[in-house]
Amino acid sequence: MQYEGKVYRPWPEARSILIQTTLGCSINTCTFCSMFDDKRFKVRDIEDVFKDIEQARHIYPFVDSIFLIDGNVMAARTDYLIKILDKLRHTFPEATKISMYSGLNDFRRKTVSELKEIKDAGLDMCYSGLESGDPLVLENIKKRMTREHAIEGMARAKEAGIETLLSFIFGLGGRERSREHIEATTDILNITKPEQIAPMALAIQPGTVMEQEVQRGEFLMPTQMQVLEEEKYLLENLNIDTFYWGDHGNNLVPQKGFLLDSREEFLGNLNRVIKANPMAKENIIQTFSW
Ligand code: SF4
Repeated sequence: MQYEGKVYRPWPEARSILIQTTLGCSINTCTFCSMFDDKRFKVRDIEDVFKDIEQARHIYPFVDSIFLIDGNVMAARTDYLIKILDKLRHTFPEATKISMYSGLNDFRRKTVSELKEIKDAGLDMCYSGLESGDPLVLENIKKRMTREHAIEGMARAKEAGIETLLSFIFGLGGRERSREHIEATTDILNITKPEQIAPMALAIQPGTVMEQEVQRGEFLMPTQMQVLEEEKYLLENLNIDTFYWGDHGNNLVPQKGFLLDSREEFLGNLNRVIKANPMAKENIIQTFSW
């Protein structure tokens, strides 16, 4: 099987086979991200993808789950995606799940009937990066997506019946916009009602624009306490039934489960860490307003 450049998959897909369908990310401008800085976006030749699928069949006697990489595979043409999904469903009839990365703008650029065709061809779910619901944070990180785009894209996926996991980043508003960031992010999650959510704490990646912004003092890293308080605000104010993947390796209090069943337990875990945090006094003053 052919893999070009750095390869990523979401951590819930750790047991999936990875089929490289696109190369890179069609956005590639987000200031905090270096995932695909080694390649230009390209949709792979369909015959090459088919060869990889056939080879994977020879390697793996049983495949439960398949994840299409790289970044925003949904940017590819609808007929191309349908052919890939058909091939996967015929080659791996035992698979219970096929998923991919999709930008929220990619949903928005397809019609609901196109998205329904893609779902009917075998797509079970998508992973989409929201990052923040705050318009200013979205502008600062150069995501090329507005809050309105995100809401519209999610509405289209919902209408087509495509399940979505939305990921976002605690601390992405920095020290000065922590409150606005988490309030707007919680609000957009309540509006869009994703079936799954995955919050992760900000970690500066080497070689990114954000790393330079931190070095120049233009972006002030949030304190640990702010990150904890963001998660607390989120848990206290989300009113949707969703699966909470709060167990990313960057998170200070790893926890996952159905939100409605686990909210009190998650808040208890957070409050214990907030109380015990040796930086608490200094940081509480910085986040006093909420
Ligand atoms: S965060 Fe997502 S959309 Fe932005 S550059 Fe990275 S992979 Fe592309």
